[in-house]
Amino acid sequence: MTGRQRLAILGATGSIGLSTLDVVARHPERFEVVALTGHRRLDILAAQCRRHRPRYAVVGDSADAKRLGEALAGVGTEVLAGVAALEGVAALPEVDTVMAAIVGAAGLSPTLAAVRAGKKVLLANKEALVMAGAVFMAEVSRRGTPLLPIDSEHNAVFQSLPRAFDGNLAACGVRKVLLTASGGPFRATPIEALAEVTPEQACAHPNWVMGRKISVDSATMMNKGLEVIEARWLFNAMPEQIEVVIHPQSIIHSLVQYVDGSVLAQLGNPDMRTPIAHALAYPDRIDAGVAPLDLFEIGRLNFERPDLRRFPCLSLAFQALRAGGNAPAVLNAANEVAVEAFLEGRLAYPDIAQVIAASLDAVPAAATDTLEAVLAADRAGREAALGMLLVRHAS
Ligand code: NDP
Ligand code: MG
Repeated sequence: MTGRQRLAILGATGSIGLSTLDVVARHPERFEVVALTGHRRLDILAAQCRRHRPRYAVVGDSADAKRLGEALAGVGTEVLAGVAALEGVAALPEVDTVMAAIVGAAGLSPTLAAVRAGKKVLLANKEALVMAGAVFMAEVSRRGTPLLPIDSEHNAVFQSLPRAFDGNLAACGVRKVLLTASGGPFRATPIEALAEVTPEQACAHPNWVMGRKISVDSATMMNKGLEVIEARWLFNAMPEQIEVVIHPQSIIHSLVQYVDGSVLAQLGNPDMRTPIAHALAYPDRIDAGVAPLDLFEIGRLNFERPDLRRFPCLSLAFQALRAGGNAPAVLNAANEVAVEAFLEGRLAYPDIAQVIAASLDAVPAAATDTLEAVLAADRAGREAALGMLLVRHAS
């Protein structure tokens, strides 16, 4: 690419957004920020705009746009609002690369807009792929969109596959993709004690600092479940080609097992700036600000098989993947509703899995080969989960 890489960062005010801007700020000769988007954290977005002077900033609604516009008087950033503006900045002709780092289903339409515009898409927003895998990947191949995984596991798999990988794992001699998982904060908590755990405990991840939703997903291992589905689409992997390995130190970010017995892996300190820098600079390598890995300090690496009684959400995700059709979108939607209720103190931790399981049972199977069908499945999953929450409150 000649000249600086011009970026739109969707979800700039979140954990991935902050790490992205940290890497970008280390390489002003390489990157130029054209658009930043946020939702509720206007003060952070205002500070980012003053620092990076993007042409556009996007927020949720026009009242927030007015407030941010006033705060940014003289900065030269045009403030826009709403979903159409998110889609618009993702597809701007003056943008080369889009970091898709909005959390949850809200990220789907702007991420798809970037894919359709043929941008280089750096995908953190795994929920978009879980919901709409078939539609999403069909657009990626139709447009020839460069799609680079930011999720640390998928980034590690990408780095451990041959550069020539074109969607055929068997042709590359791959037997299995092994996704590592830390096991989260409750890996060793007695199962009976899980009924009492609080949102603060669930969000206190042992190795990674992340947004609240993905932190709860890591505690339940729904995050790994969503990542299994994400791997299915990114690497065209069958469910039996994907295995989850608990690795509490989070040093090996994932592995690829080949038919000749070789296993290739990517290792590093648990810091999202590594996969972000990898994807931003690909195929070059740039400094990410991450400390070099010190194997002597780490000493040992451990591995365990996940206990599915402790982590029922992982089973639910495999079940949804095997069922196909609308099941992953329903799973994702019900999970978003259940996690929000848990974070707001309206649902006990073990009931997250119960609400998702009941929602999967309640919504009839359907195909999701159009965006409309995906959005209908998302709505049905949310309605089913909200219905379960009401039943729980009433009883
Ligand atoms: P955060 O909660 O920290 O940030 C989410 C971002 O999305 C914020 O910028 C937020 O804006 C914005 N946002 C929230 N709701 C909406 C909405 N309805 N419309 C538009 N924007 C919205 O999440 P993370 O950064 O942790 O995660 C982002 C994505 O990356 C998720 O899909 C997650 O699964 C994935 N991911 C994250 C990792 C991590 O280490 N954090 C690792 C791997 C994947 P605001 O803050 O202004 O309200
Ligand atoms: Mg991950």
